[in-house]
Parts: sequence; C-alpha cells; structure tokens
Amino acid sequence: APPTPRLRADEIAAIDAAAIWHPYGSARPGTPPVVVESAAGTRLHLADGRSVVDGMSSWWAAVHGYAHPVLDAAVTEQLGSMAHVMFGGLTHEPAARLAQTLVDITPDPLRRVFFCDSGSVAVEVAAKMALQYWRGQGIHGRTRMLTWRGGYHGDTVTPMSVCDPDGGMHAQWSGVLPEQVFVPAPPVEHDPAYVAVLEETVAAHRDELAAVIVEPVVQGAGGMRFHDSAYLRDLRRICDDHGLLLIFDEIATGFGRTGEMFAADHAGVAPDILCLGKALTGGYLTMAATLCTDHVAQVISDGEMGVLAHGPTFMANPLACAVSSASLSLLASGDWRGQVAGIGEHLRDGLADLRDLPQVADVRVLGAIGVVQLTRPVDMDVATTAALDSGAWLRPFRDLVYTMPPYVCSPDDLDTIVAGIRAVVTAHG
Ligand code: PLP
Repeated sequence: APPTPRLRADEIAAIDAAAIWHPYGSARPGTPPVVVESAAGTRLHLADGRSVVDGMSSWWAAVHGYAHPVLDAAVTEQLGSMAHVMFGGLTHEPAARLAQTLVDITPDPLRRVFFCDSGSVAVEVAAKMALQYWRGQGIHGRTRMLTWRGGYHGDTVTPMSVCDPDGGMHAQWSGVLPEQVFVPAPPVEHDPAYVAVLEETVAAHRDELAAVIVEPVVQGAGGMRFHDSAYLRDLRRICDDHGLLLIFDEIATGFGRTGEMFAADHAGVAPDILCLGKALTGGYLTMAATLCTDHVAQVISDGEMGVLAHGPTFMANPLACAVSSASLSLLASGDWRGQVAGIGEHLRDGLADLRDLPQVADVRVLGAIGVVQLTRPVDMDVATTAALDSGAWLRPFRDLVYTMPPYVCSPDDLDTIVAGIRAVVTAHG
C-alpha cells in the first residue's frame, strides 16, 4: 500500500478542534493544543520547530525519557511474537515475568497481581477487592471507603468518589457519587492531634467501612501536597486495630519518584492493596496494576462470588508487560536514587528564592517533584507561552506550577525547567 500522506500541523489542529476531546476539554473554541511531532530523550519536538524539555514526564510516566533504546527494543521484540491475546484462560511470559518482578519489589505481603489498563481502573479494582473481601465473609454493610480530603484517585466513578468533594476536581459531582467518609488532609509535619481525629473517624464509621484509601506521602493532582510518612504507620495501626483494609494509591508516587521505590517504603509500611500505574511502563503504553496480599486473595476466592469479578479486554497486554519489565530492569540497573536526589537538590536550589515573591504562597520539593504554589490560579495561556518561550513544557493547574521531570534530565535540562517555572511565576506577578 502507498504510504499514508502526513497531515500538516494546521490540518491536525483543524481536525483536533472539530473532532477530539482532550483531558478536561471543552467542545467550545479555545486555545488549541500544542502539536507535538516526536519525542526523544527529555525533549518534545513541536510542529512549530521548537524542541522543549519535558518538565511533566507526560504526567509522571516517562521516567526514562522518550524513545529510550531499551524500551523501544522491548516493544519491538515483543511485537515480533505477539501484540495481544485475551487473558481469560490464557497466560504468557511477559505477564509472568512482570508479575514476578512486581511481587519481588513491592512490600512483602503483596503477592498477587491484577493487571489493569489505567490508573483509574486500578483504583476501581482495589475498591472492588475491598468490597468483595467483606461480601466474601458474608458482611454486606461494609461498603464505604475512608480517605483524606485533597486527594486525587482518577476519573472513573469510584475514584471520583474518593477525590476531594470540596473544591477538588470532581466537586461538581457531589450528591451523584457513592458517599465516602472524609477526614482532613494530613498536616505536613506529624501531629498526634491529627492522628486522634483519624482514629476517632475510623472508629465512628467502622461498621460501614470497607477500606481506607490514601496517596502516601504525596497527594498529587488534588493539590501537590506532601506529608510526613509517619502517618502511614498510624494508618496501618488504626486499620489493624479495626480490622480494616488499607489501600495505597501509588499510581503517581511509585517507581522512585519520591526518593524511595515506593512512597510506602519511607515508612516501612505495607498496605493490603496497592495501586500502580503511570511510570510502570516507563510511560510507553497504558497499563496499571493492583496488587493484594494472599490473605485478601484467599478471602475473595473463598467468598460467595468465588472470583475477583473484573476482566478487561486488554488485560495484561503483552507489549505493555514487556515494556514494563524493561523499564523496571532499567531502574534496577541504573542509579534512579542518585538521579532523583540530584533533581531534588537542583530544584531546591533553583526555586528557593521564589518564596520571597508576593505572588508565591509556597515552594516545596520532595524527591523529583518541585512545586511552586501561587496566591491565585494561573492563566493557562500565559503559563504555557511563558514556559515554552523558556524552552520547557509545563502544565500548571489551579494555583500550582510544578514539575516532575524524567529521571534522566541533565543539569542543563533542569536549568531549562527551572527557567520555565520562574517565567510562569514572573508572568503572574
Ligand atoms: N491515582 C493517582 C494518585 C493519580 O495521580 C492518577 C492520575 O493522575 C490516577 C489515580 C488515575 O490514573 P489514570 O489517569 O491512569 O486513570
């Protein structure tokens, strides 16, 4: 067949405007998205000829950068034998290899892996595991989840219900979603008074709660807030005392971003259920995973349904499994710890003095995450232009200008990202 003719950038933009939804997009005319032609290393190559450093890792995912030869080769090699097969009644080496690695690198009691196709689905599956855990024991009243305000767990219905109902991304849906139990977001420093509130709330709702679900150490898209990892130990104890399941959503924090392989490792705490996604595939393909303990798996399997009632069409896609294993091998053989620590240091040095500006409410850095919080929401058009003109791709939201760059960023790349953040902040002075 003759090669398909390439679309020009203006043709792409026209089709996009007429026919495509973007994340949280509108069909009303607005600022068009930036057309990107290719990506390599830490850079996005734009159709207008500019090449910019990606400060977002495509939303926490592309930790090794783009077009990494090892990841490219993993996909190509897997493509040579099998792009996809159904996972009902079939299994394959890419899934087995990845499952074994995930069991090996996650906290010890997590031994069983459910492969999902997105982070939101991983949270849905975690919630379903928790519900089935109680139903499996003949207890039908324990259906709600307790969570922190200020969280973000995804965009399907159950994750939406455990996002912040007050001012969070899904606040406009309150009254429609399953009703969950909320406690305030944890303070940055460990505070026994806050732990007492947590404990009281759990005790008050104990008989209706199936699980506690939180983002450990970093609340991401709900506000880019950090908190002391000691709260994870408190949660573990409280859940144990009340016989509750503990779910950690490490879809954003997993795979080294906070300075430990998993945020739970800061506190040496193991949840009963763990959600992973985003950087799992090194940002190459859509894939997530929900892990649980043997105990949870056994109770579900012995329960009235006898099965975990979930089975996506593209479950355990071999290409995604193969590239995930390759990404985890890169982490295992590389110096992600040093890279993340170096990025943190660079961001701390580069952003600290912004704290003195009147339009800046806070500057915070943890692991390879840098956040500048303004005193008012950013103007997205102004912010995008300011960042791109500095050579960086950034995607602020609300009052937050932030970066979680690929681990492979050079000091020059990080200088460019810092310059981009500074330009966005300055443009809002
Ligand atoms: N959980 C957390 C902590 C996230 O940050 C996200 C995405 O930003 C999700 C869940 C949802 O993942 P996905 O966008 O892959 O559905």
